[in-house]
Amino acid sequence: MLDVMLPYLGERFGNPSSVHSWGQEAEAAVEGSREGIAELMGCSPTELIFTSGGSESDNLALRGAAWRGREERNANHILTTPVEHEAVLHTAEELAKVHGFELELLPVDAAGRVSVEALQERMRPDTAIVSIIYANNEIGTINPIRELGQACRASGVPFHTDAVQAASQLPIDVDELNVDLMSIGAHKFYGPKGVGCLFVREGISLDPTQTGGGQEAGRRAGTENVPNIVGMCEALRITMEQLHENNTHFRSLRDALVRGITLAIEGVRQTGSAQVRLPNHASFVIPGVDGNELVAALDLAGYACSSGSACKTGAPEPSRVLTGIGLEPSLALGSLRVSVGRPTKRDEIEGLLEILPAIVERLRSTMQVRLE
Ligand SMILES: *Cc1c(COP(=O)(O)O)cnc(C)c1O
Repeated sequence: MLDVMLPYLGERFGNPSSVHSWGQEAEAAVEGSREGIAELMGCSPTELIFTSGGSESDNLALRGAAWRGREERNANHILTTPVEHEAVLHTAEELAKVHGFELELLPVDAAGRVSVEALQERMRPDTAIVSIIYANNEIGTINPIRELGQACRASGVPFHTDAVQAASQLPIDVDELNVDLMSIGAHKFYGPKGVGCLFVREGISLDPTQTGGGQEAGRRAGTENVPNIVGMCEALRITMEQLHENNTHFRSLRDALVRGITLAIEGVRQTGSAQVRLPNHASFVIPGVDGNELVAALDLAGYACSSGSACKTGAPEPSRVLTGIGLEPSLALGSLRVSVGRPTKRDEIEGLLEILPAIVERLRSTMQVRLE
């Protein structure tokens, strides 16, 4: 990936909007990448908007569709779920608070899945946009996007999915998925950070959220990040080319990890669905443990894991996603998320399984002392 990016960080420094030949060279790189990504997503190049990443794509989808829906159809209702990434949920909350939209959250089951029936019951003629996450970043759960999209289409409501986490491992053909808007971000599939794109189906109109020059057909102002865009296209090409092979590798390691942790740690529970989940993703709650302390201890031992809780000035808050699927806040604080990647090896999984029980035991006893 780096090799295709480097020329655009060096001698090919043109601005794609410039008329001279250096500019045209940069424009050709951007448009070539747009065609490459469009082919991988099964859409037309004109249906893609380059952005600064997953968060911006989510923002543009929600704000752009909500504002346009209000202008065109007097639509003021936004439907999303309690298990979205903050880029969707905080945007929807802001649209409600500052712009007066009515925000409604769809119910999810214990694995964080939305049902078609629940969606159909709540869609209304004045629904401006429905946004449902494709694969969850915290609990790995995959939503039935194709069926949910079909229901939205039948009701004539624009349907957005946040596929930022999904794009590294799941099919992203926008027609197969029945989506009108779809966000991806390059760094979740080994691409550069700070670049993403938003698919916007032809016929779906959006208000821009960033105004200025006429780039991206007037839908997103600002000079394109040429090297990052070229890198994103290459990273997505490699991802789709190796999808099956990588997923098999991920699944085998992930399943060994889940089996090992379930056997070794008393009281541990897998979060999300055991089956309908991202192949590389394992997530748990471990009673009696503070997830942030656990992640810090694992980091010292050389393992980069995460927890769902955000530690703000010493008072950790449970993850909204975990409380959203009905977990007790105290249990949600003991969350652990482990993902495997292309370079992960079996002996690294075994190494983690070897040290984890003692770490959990130590953290449990210090937590016990604190409570007494
Ligand atoms: C990472 C992530 C985002 C945010 O993407 P950035 O490129 O980091 O802005 C949004 N949604 C999901 C599901 C993610 O995993």
